Amino acid sequence: MIALSLAEIAAVVGGQTHDIPDPSVQVTASVVRDSREVRPGSLFVAFVGERVDGHDFARQVVEAGAVAVLASRPVGVPAIVVDDVQSALGALARHVVRRLGATLVALTGSAGKTSTKDLIAQVLQRKAPTVFTPGSLNNEIGLPLTALSATEETKFLVLEMGARGIGHIRYLTELTPPRIGLVLNVGSAHIGEFGGREQIAQAKGELVEALPEDGAAILNADDPLVRAMASRTKAKVILFGETDEADVRAENVRLTDTGQPAFRLHTPSGASDVTMRLYGEHHVSNALAAAAVAHELGMSAKEIATALSEADSLSRWRMEVTERPDGVTIVNDAYNANPESMRAALRALAAMGKGRRTWAVLGKMAELGDEALAEHDAVGRLAVRLNVGKLVAVGGREASWLQLGAYNEGSWGEESVHVSDAQAAVDLLRSELRPGDVVLVKASRSVGLESVAQALLEAG
Ligand code: ATP
Ligand code: MG
Repeated sequence: MIALSLAEIAAVVGGQTHDIPDPSVQVTASVVRDSREVRPGSLFVAFVGERVDGHDFARQVVEAGAVAVLASRPVGVPAIVVDDVQSALGALARHVVRRLGATLVALTGSAGKTSTKDLIAQVLQRKAPTVFTPGSLNNEIGLPLTALSATEETKFLVLEMGARGIGHIRYLTELTPPRIGLVLNVGSAHIGEFGGREQIAQAKGELVEALPEDGAAILNADDPLVRAMASRTKAKVILFGETDEADVRAENVRLTDTGQPAFRLHTPSGASDVTMRLYGEHHVSNALAAAAVAHELGMSAKEIATALSEADSLSRWRMEVTERPDGVTIVNDAYNANPESMRAALRALAAMGKGRRTWAVLGKMAELGDEALAEHDAVGRLAVRLNVGKLVAVGGREASWLQLGAYNEGSWGEESVHVSDAQAAVDLLRSELRPGDVVLVKASRSVGLESVAQALLEAG
């Protein structure tokens, strides 16, 4: 972070100082909301949560070296007291970002934000010091905390922005105004909360509306609702996708025998071959998005292709491939699921499992509204068409739709099974797995199927 005195912080957030003998003392280490992350020189931000009140940790964090607490009431230790801690944190981030010399890159979309953010960071890092959202901390608290962790050396600040409704992204862009804004896709995630795809597009498009004239809007040419956002920005538009009209595009897209995507990357500066370490063809779109950002920031096609080919998965439970000592391969993609990524994961499984026995342990895809039955049915059918050895559908109604889809596609009876819960899936697989088998585990976040992947890894 950049060092800030308590006096400066109090002025920026319009707060009262309490129990602060010397306001020129600086916060030098970090701004944190988790008491366990406090280091000497930190500022601790006290939020009042549903179960925990950060103010209760005030004494403890000061003992651990915190310089002060940003709080909504005096706490008996050095504190800057404000009416609303969240807006104060936002104001502080806005202030710091103005002082930084960094270029801000923000991205949003229904699926793939974290995967793409991790790719962008790994590409840009090769050019200059880059700070990026850790994990998925993409809301009104995580975003300012990430921005505050940037230093004088930071050249690129890459921020994931999540939206749960109209106005949300606009608020985030006011805290940390991006010069480059990327919209990945408008899928069906959170469709229930929003009311429909058009509303989701409306909310995500707020990102490109916030861009300045000398900025760049990076849009997915393959997604009509994203592409249409070109009319909502003053900034230059750069399109990425598999279509010929895209400025940054992929040709000859294929999966290698190991299920990893390979393609020829074209940018306005040239072309170069990419073979990814990540699994699943949905990463082609994510990689093109990252390439478009890197191109705008002056990297050549060759540099970008090398970086994409060497990029790793930085976040857990997303196509995490592990081989057990007995030769059973577990593909843990239990972080989340939507129809697009289910299809991508099944295709990766089929590619990886050539000549081996394959298992797809799948649970429900949440928040699909009226499309739920048809989408689960289609995934079940695809599993059969791809010759997946056995579908294990886990859970309630949606799992029965998965199995029904498999059944409807023909040929199956024995080859698909519906079990009620994760434990039943583990019991079944424990007794049936043989060396060399490949097992994909995937469902929406709420299903928590990582427990199955974990149990299978331990069983090996
Ligand atoms: P969250 O809203 O939880 O922060 P996110 O948008 O950050 O999610 P990721 O964490 O990158 O998304 O990926 C979540 C899941 O979405 C992955 O497990 C993967 O199955 C799927 N996914 C990743 N990229 C894409 C894509 N381009 N299209 C469709 N699905 C994708
Ligand atoms: Mg995320």
